[in-house]
Amino acid sequence: MSRAFNFSAGPATLPESVLRQAQAQMLEFGDAGASIVELSHRGPEFIGVAQQTEADLRSLLSIPDDYAVLFTAGGATTTQALLPLNFANPGQTVDYVVTGHWGKTALKQARAGVVVNIAASGEADGYRAIPARGGWSLSKDAAYVHITANETIHGVEFRDIPETGDVPLFADFSSSIASEPLDISKFGVIYAGAQKNLGPVGIGVVIVRRDLLAREGQPRADIFDYRKQLEAESMLNTPPSWNWYMLGLTVKWMLDEGGVTEFAIRNARKAAALYDVIDNSGGYFRNEVTAEVRSRMNVPFFLHDEALDKEFLAGAKAAGLIGLKGHRALGGMRASIYNAMPEAGVQALADFMRAFQSGHG
Ligand SMILES: *Cc1c(COP(=O)(O)O)cnc(C)c1O
Repeated sequence: MSRAFNFSAGPATLPESVLRQAQAQMLEFGDAGASIVELSHRGPEFIGVAQQTEADLRSLLSIPDDYAVLFTAGGATTTQALLPLNFANPGQTVDYVVTGHWGKTALKQARAGVVVNIAASGEADGYRAIPARGGWSLSKDAAYVHITANETIHGVEFRDIPETGDVPLFADFSSSIASEPLDISKFGVIYAGAQKNLGPVGIGVVIVRRDLLAREGQPRADIFDYRKQLEAESMLNTPPSWNWYMLGLTVKWMLDEGGVTEFAIRNARKAAALYDVIDNSGGYFRNEVTAEVRSRMNVPFFLHDEALDKEFLAGAKAAGLIGLKGHRALGGMRASIYNAMPEAGVQALADFMRAFQSGHG
C-alpha cells in the first residue's frame, strides 16, 4: 500500500504522523485499557484530551481570552444555521457578503426568522472577484456582517479583513483557518468545520467574542444555544470524541511544525508554485480568479480542452495524485493544498501538469 498525495477539498488529507498516532492509540489510549472512543466523555482521559485540545488551539491561533471556543458537531452548515438563532433578534437584519458557493449556503441557512440583506455579491461575475468594500450596502443596525474568508469551491479568498464599524464581522474560515496568522480581535465570530484544515470531519470550532453571547437571539432549544453549550464545555450531549481527539492531534502537529507563521510561508510557496504553472502555460491551463484574491488553499483550474479532463485525472492518479476533480458546480480541476499537503505533493502536481502539457501540446 502507498499513500497518494491527496488534493481532496474535504474531507481532506491529514498528516501521516497524525494518522499513525491515531492508529497506534486506536486499541488503547495510554494505559486506559480502552480506546478514547470507547471511554466516557465525562472521564478523566477524555476531559484531558478536550482541555489540551482547547489550550493548543488557543495557542496555535492566538485566541484572546475574551473569546470563547466551542467544539461543535453538525458541520459548518449547522453553524451557519445557528448564527442568526444565537446572535440576531427576531426580525433583525443580518448582512451577508456572498463571494461564492459557501456564502450562498450560509445565506440560505439564515433565512428563517431574520431579514437577510445581501450586502454584496460576486455572483454576476461568476465569483471571480470580491466586490470592493466601498460598494457594499451594509444595514445600519445589522446583527452582524457575514463573509466567507475562503471560498473552497470558487477559489476566492479575502486577503484583507473588511472594516464593518460597530457591527461585528462573522466569518466562515472552514477552509483557511490556521493557514496564516490572523487577528482574531477583528472578528465577532470565526467558525470552521474541521475537515479541511484542522482535522477530521464530524467536528467544528466556533470562536466567539464573549460579549456577543449576552445577546438574546431567537427562541431555540438548549442544544442550539451557544451559551448553554459553553456552560457545558461543548458537552451538553455526547460529543464526537474520536473526532475531537484527532483534531487535537492535528493542532498539536501544527504547533510542532512551527505554527501558523510557518504554515503561512509554506502555503504561499505552494500556491505560487501552482499558479505559476497555470499562468505560464500559455492558456493550456487557466484559473479565472482575479490575481489579488486567488485562494492560497483551493486552486481551481481548467484545461483548455475539457475533453482532456478524464485523461488528466487518470494520469494524475497513476502518478499518485488524487482528489483533483473539480466541484460539480464548476467542473474542471481543483487542487486543495491545505496545511497537511506537503510541498513535495504540490511539486509533484506541478511537474505532472507541465509533463501533461508537453505530452499533449
Ligand atoms: C466545507 C465547507 C462548508 C460546509 O461544511 P460542512 O461541514 O459540510 O457543513 C462551509 N463553508 C466552507 C467555506 C466550506 O469549505
